[in-house]
Amino acid sequence: MSELIVSGSASTESLSRHTTFHLGGPAAEFITATTDAEIIEAVTAADAAGKDVLVLGGGSNLVVADAGFPGTVIKLATTGVAAEPVEGGVRVTVAAGETWDDFVTTAVDKGWSGVEALSGIPGSVGATPIQNVGAYGQDVSQTITSVKVFDRELREVRSFTAGECAFGYRWSRFKERPGRYVVLEATFRLGTDGETGSPIAYAQLAGALGVEQGTRVPSKQIREAVLSLRRGKGMVIDEADHDTWSAGSFFTNPVVAPEDVPEGAPAYPQPDGTVKTSAAWLIDHAGFKKGHGNQRVSLSTKHTLALTNRGQGTTEDLLALAREVRDGVEAAYGIVLVNEPVMLGVEL
Ligand SMILES: Cc1cc2nc3c(=O)[nH]c(=O)nc-3n(C[C@H](O)[C@H](O)[C@H](O)COP(=O)(O)OP(=O)(O)OC[C@H]3O[C@@H](n4cnc5c(N)ncnc54)[C@H](O)[C@@H]3O)c2cc1C
Repeated sequence: MSELIVSGSASTESLSRHTTFHLGGPAAEFITATTDAEIIEAVTAADAAGKDVLVLGGGSNLVVADAGFPGTVIKLATTGVAAEPVEGGVRVTVAAGETWDDFVTTAVDKGWSGVEALSGIPGSVGATPIQNVGAYGQDVSQTITSVKVFDRELREVRSFTAGECAFGYRWSRFKERPGRYVVLEATFRLGTDGETGSPIAYAQLAGALGVEQGTRVPSKQIREAVLSLRRGKGMVIDEADHDTWSAGSFFTNPVVAPEDVPEGAPAYPQPDGTVKTSAAWLIDHAGFKKGHGNQRVSLSTKHTLALTNRGQGTTEDLLALAREVRDGVEAAYGIVLVNEPVMLGVEL
């Protein structure tokens, strides 16, 4: 049986060291699992003991209570990227514990296409199918072909095709039943045309590259343009910059009936007749400007949609700010913003 690394105790392993907010109290138990067998062993043992479990990737989409987590945290640290050629492309299977942006870097360097617009997103590969991570016209549902999981209910390893993952906007079957599935690996089908590149599917990115939307641009150039756009918005982690002590976008973009879109707000019609509007626009026009908040927590000075810890904040401070913004937007526009990060031991 493999040996797990069990570190910390209730008093030493603070989850603030494992979240990009730099917030959250201690974990009762903290385990680092470096193989699938170790992950399954740790989850099974915690389940058998009736302990709560948190499967932790990069902690970039997590709000953890100041009181911490009374259960077992299992930090996924599995590694491995295996590629095999398929007709017109390459099939790449990546371990859940791999860092997402390292995988994007590898893909771009090897001339693979399909994930380059997702450059600079923090966190692990295993978390990307959970909320169907996306940015700048790409999301992982466009390239994931299957996801291997450990099902804690059936206590077996299973594989879901992309169709079975039920991907939607920041959504998948894994969010329907939070905690049931531990993602062990994800398989992507990527193009091998990275040098000619993918068509640009996002107006702002096309603008930054000085091309029309739909133009093919080499993946390396797309990556550089995306990283530059993201840095300008504080959306690339930089420990020295408190604007990046966040979970990225704190609220999802609301999807509403066409008549409920406020006048002047961005409107992106959806296939089912609803319209997606911009949470950042709503926050800004409800009167919450960049930097709104106090010395402990505030909106990012670069982007209204990111709530940030200025260094001295607590999770309670952060939640108070989030409630102020959510309630202000509801009062102004009748639209209730929904948080994107996962809440652990707290509610908005
Ligand atoms: C600066 C910044 C920018 C960001 N930009 C974007 C963006 O452009 N687009 C976007 O979509 N997101 C963005 N995010 C959010 C975040 O990076 C993604 O959601 C990311 O996929 C989270 O990965 P993680 O490994 O850090 O997950 P964690 O924060 O560790 O976990 C988040 C949730 O997923 C669960 N989870 C994690 N790994 C697994 C697994 N292997 N199996 C089962 N459950 C798991 C956890 O239990 C938890 O419930 C941004 C965040 C930051 C801080």
